[in-house]
Amino acid sequence: MAVHGAPMPASAKTTHELERSASGGRAVAPVLRVENLVKRFDTPEGPITAVDRVSFSVAQGELISLIGPSGCGKSTVFNIVGGLVPMSEGRVHVNGEAIAGPHAAIGMVFQEESTFPWRTVLDNVAFPLEIAGLRKSERIERGMHYVKLVGLDGFEKRYPAELSGGMRQRVSIARALGSAPKMLLMDEPFASLDEQTRLLLGDKVLQIQQELNQTILLITHNITEAVQLSDRVLVMSYRPGRIKRVVEIDLPRPRTSAIVSSDAFGRYVAAIWGDLREEASRGMLSEEAQSSRHERA
Ligand code: ADP
Ligand code: MG
Repeated sequence: MAVHGAPMPASAKTTHELERSASGGRAVAPVLRVENLVKRFDTPEGPITAVDRVSFSVAQGELISLIGPSGCGKSTVFNIVGGLVPMSEGRVHVNGEAIAGPHAAIGMVFQEESTFPWRTVLDNVAFPLEIAGLRKSERIERGMHYVKLVGLDGFEKRYPAELSGGMRQRVSIARALGSAPKMLLMDEPFASLDEQTRLLLGDKVLQIQQELNQTILLITHNITEAVQLSDRVLVMSYRPGRIKRVVEIDLPRPRTSAIVSSDAFGRYVAAIWGDLREEASRGMLSEEAQSSRHERA
């Protein structure tokens, strides 16, 4: 992937391109900029607009969550930003570059299990490094660094089947981080895990984010997870998928999962549920209507 060299002087950029970073108050270009993103699908029931004029940006080191009920277009946004699916309209820039296809600046972690069962933990994590043509010693060194970062040292020679679901998702996260992506994109990475494991893995993500100053876009339907981890939560509406509200999470960092019992945390959860409830109900009704149409057909 081509990376732009020296950053342009701030004066050469439009104010639109500039954002104040939360930390230093310096003007910096966002790592991810999504503008007026639209995605339409043709379905047997006619065309649907899955994503409708979605715009947001993510600054260096920020963790942003996109939350919404099932079917609201979250994975569609994930797939478009990751370059796996073309958009119908709009623009997506990563690190100042328009995306057209899979992009080395983005590391993706999928909802479903994506480890290779025939490879050890270390060989799973080092797989992209192998593809990139790194020498074996370098692969081992870099791979082990990320194995340790996700807290799996001692398990590097194990196979995925010997690990818990939470540990396997940590392998996927380590593998995505191994290519040092500008941005980590995660689509419901903890959806199949129990609530306790999810909270503890959230701590791991917070720790990693802090250590690497990693920019993260997290897709989730879990309100606790979104509030626990995020700087900002973007609440999506159901059909068409739009950004209904942006909630700034002004909770202190560094955070741990202990924060979920605080009053302030509870207020954020309640506020977001207030917005999501209506959308989730509409989603449920629409899915019920769809399945009764199928029954009749
Ligand atoms: P979410 O991840 O929020 O559950 P998705 O992005 O997967 O939602 O889907 C959003 C909407 O787009 C859904 O109604 C889904 O059925 C539809 N959709 C997603 N992918 C396709 C596709 N390839 N063809 C047709 N419809 C699709
Ligand atoms: Mg999805």
